[in-house]
Amino acid sequence: QQEQLKEMRELSATTPDGTTIEIAANIGRLRDAGPAVAAGAGGIGLFRTEFLFLDRQAAPSEEEQLEAYNTVLQEFAGQTVIVRTLDIGGDKSVPYLSLPKEDNPFLGLRGIRLCLDPRYQSLFRTQIRALLLAARPAVASLWIMLPMICDLRELRQARTFIAETEAQLLQEGKLTAPVLPRLRLGIMLETPSSVWLIDQLAREADFFSIGTNDLAQYTLTSDRMNAGLAELQRPFHPAVMRTIAHIVRSARKLQRWVGMCGEMAGDPRASAFLLGLGINELSMEAGSFNAVKRVIRNTTMAQAREIVERVLAAESSADIEEILL
Ligand code: PEP
Ligand code: MG
Repeated sequence: QQEQLKEMRELSATTPDGTTIEIAANIGRLRDAGPAVAAGAGGIGLFRTEFLFLDRQAAPSEEEQLEAYNTVLQEFAGQTVIVRTLDIGGDKSVPYLSLPKEDNPFLGLRGIRLCLDPRYQSLFRTQIRALLLAARPAVASLWIMLPMICDLRELRQARTFIAETEAQLLQEGKLTAPVLPRLRLGIMLETPSSVWLIDQLAREADFFSIGTNDLAQYTLTSDRMNAGLAELQRPFHPAVMRTIAHIVRSARKLQRWVGMCGEMAGDPRASAFLLGLGINELSMEAGSFNAVKRVIRNTTMAQAREIVERVLAAESSADIEEILL
């Protein structure tokens, strides 16, 4: 058993008929990086940067952030590291920000909305500066991912902001050459709005990553923290599965790379379905790598596509759980 596990670490997630999916790690602290490499991560599909900003009395400086980003990029030399920009909102207490009190924090000033708000923009600027500086040595390939994007206006505003920040760094001499031309800028698909605007968003987004945690909560209008909504929180609701299918199929038509970094990516029951749709990458906690790889290594594309058709025809979460068993 131990031998088998060790072997699995070296093996790619390739189907018997030769389709490969990238298996990447989600990390939310610096100390997750080493174990993820050891477990065989093929990159980072989601680096949650909130930990740098929470539980402290002042925002982290550019230098502190640069050091953190460099540390992770070095651990993942030669691979792709997708860093998600700050995703905090009214529900998390950040003492140095004096965030507004909101009745519905999950529907409030959160993620990219907060970062683009003139009151908090300096926080975002510092993070973008650190990321652009970290992208320079080209140890690993750094991709920047924006959370909670709803429409093209927000994405364009963020892109402009990032370009202006780069211009400042060039002017200050901190950057000697532009990094944006070879840096990929993408977005989380986790709001229903972004799903229906995916063709427009593809004009400005280099890649997509599906955040099933928020996507499910907003699609089912069911608070992801509310334990009283158990039925709607079963992982495979037909509406969520159809939404995911629409996203992956659209992304492929639009010729955009699409990964998944929400909880569903690490659930081996979903692997054949996601494989059948043609997803490029699954990003998860390192502890789930082997189980997901095992499914993919034992499923042909024909079998996976058949599972997709059956799931998309199903009427309930319970029926889908039966199909995915
Ligand atoms: C998600 O929403 O699925 C996601 C990956 O982001 P987070 O859980 O950090 O909101
Ligand atoms: Mg999210």
